[in-house]
Amino acid sequence: GAAAAAAGHGGRERHVLLFPLPYQGHINPMLRLAGVLRARGFAVTVFHTHFNAPDAARHPEHRFVAVPDGMSGRPPPVSVGDVVKHIRALNAACEAAFRDRLAGVLAEYSRDAVACLVADAHLLRMVEVARRLAVPTLVLRTGSAACFASFLAYPLLCERGYLPSSSQLDMPVSELPPYRVRDLMHIGMDGHELMCELLACAVAAVKLSSGLILNTFDALEAHELAKLRRDLAVPVFDIGPIHRFSPAADGSLLHQDRSCLAWLDAQAAESVLYVSFGSLASMGARELVETAWGIAGSGVPFLWVVRPGLVRGCAAPGEPTRLLLPEGFEAATRRRGVVVAWAPQEEVLRHRAVGGFWTHSGWNSTTESLAEGVPMLCRPSFGDQMGNARYVEHVWKAGFEVGGELERGAVEAAIRRLMAESDGGEMRARARELKKAAAECTGKPGSSEMAIVKMVTHMLSL
Ligand code: UDP
Repeated sequence: GAAAAAAGHGGRERHVLLFPLPYQGHINPMLRLAGVLRARGFAVTVFHTHFNAPDAARHPEHRFVAVPDGMSGRPPPVSVGDVVKHIRALNAACEAAFRDRLAGVLAEYSRDAVACLVADAHLLRMVEVARRLAVPTLVLRTGSAACFASFLAYPLLCERGYLPSSSQLDMPVSELPPYRVRDLMHIGMDGHELMCELLACAVAAVKLSSGLILNTFDALEAHELAKLRRDLAVPVFDIGPIHRFSPAADGSLLHQDRSCLAWLDAQAAESVLYVSFGSLASMGARELVETAWGIAGSGVPFLWVVRPGLVRGCAAPGEPTRLLLPEGFEAATRRRGVVVAWAPQEEVLRHRAVGGFWTHSGWNSTTESLAEGVPMLCRPSFGDQMGNARYVEHVWKAGFEVGGELERGAVEAAIRRLMAESDGGEMRARARELKKAAAECTGKPGSSEMAIVKMVTHMLSL
């Protein structure tokens, strides 16, 4: 059946080549895509930078090819401005080395055996390299359909004066409802040109490619997907939530502390708040203190991820997490909560004890949470996170945003609202409906399952 789809080509295996952008939120969906493609009979080769290299030993089913990025010694990006510059630098630094590695792989496999390259949308230079070597390319964009629609509209929005000036943050963007100006990707006046370039490059990568793959699903973004299909000449494959098709594809760069699962086993159903701000978002030392005391004061059981680097200005890598927490916090919350440096998030969200997720609203976290029916308290900080939080609160009604300055009383109240009050219950009911809808999309005649079949057929036809 489908598993043999790609293997039956003249008895030879067909190869798909993947190149993720080396950040956790981009590596995870790409490795999950690798799992999906492997299950459909493709042999998968993953190109990767030295920076944030995935652990090949955990994925013996794929081949990994390192592309020297020449950037060792450069500190990892912390601010959003750094990330944008880092993406640009990676593109420049990897281009020539990728051309060599790709040519080597093509010589080895024979040109016909290679179906295509799937590159992250932020790796335009790699898409161009592949084109020059006549390798068909698809692009994986790891954010929402609405977010990519905002990339397409960005030049127009700037022309119409929404950006870069930020005096009217609450003004609705009538071209892209329900976004307000504050929900768009922006990094202020200084970084405006860089942001425009980043988004224009992502759009160019998609337009140069033979198809766009999105980790979203019809029940979540039917309208946004229809709009993208009208506006783009290339096919769009909505194959999310992708982790539901490839649950074993653990691409964690940090060690996942699995001991928290046993602790969750001992907690009552839907009683625990899971707190995690993803792999890049950071907070000031004061915000951490307010967060900690807000969590403690809520009286709600919690599992909190305090990763190395979460707190700006402290935390030498490897420093024990508990040293970052305010004095007295551990004693005040003993037996009611657990703090870990990095969690097996998919399993945590699936656990029956978890009743809410305080998240930074990264797109992976958002889809992982919705797929498990877990309502969210959103605290977006940059990039597409504000736009994701806007959809969670305003469109899917499966959570709400906690804005403004973090203060322990407000944190306490927000946690209680989500976990114990009636409108939190309504959000939980909405999240459950979306969980059911996600299961339908990924089930046998579902839209995402069908999109995968179409994507595979498309790959084999290129
Ligand atoms: N994640 C994890 N353990 C953690 C926190 C996050 O495995 O303790 C995973 C999470 O499941 C998700 C990814 O890291 O797949 C984070 O991606 P997201 O898009 O949510 O945020 P980003 O890190 O890109 O800001």
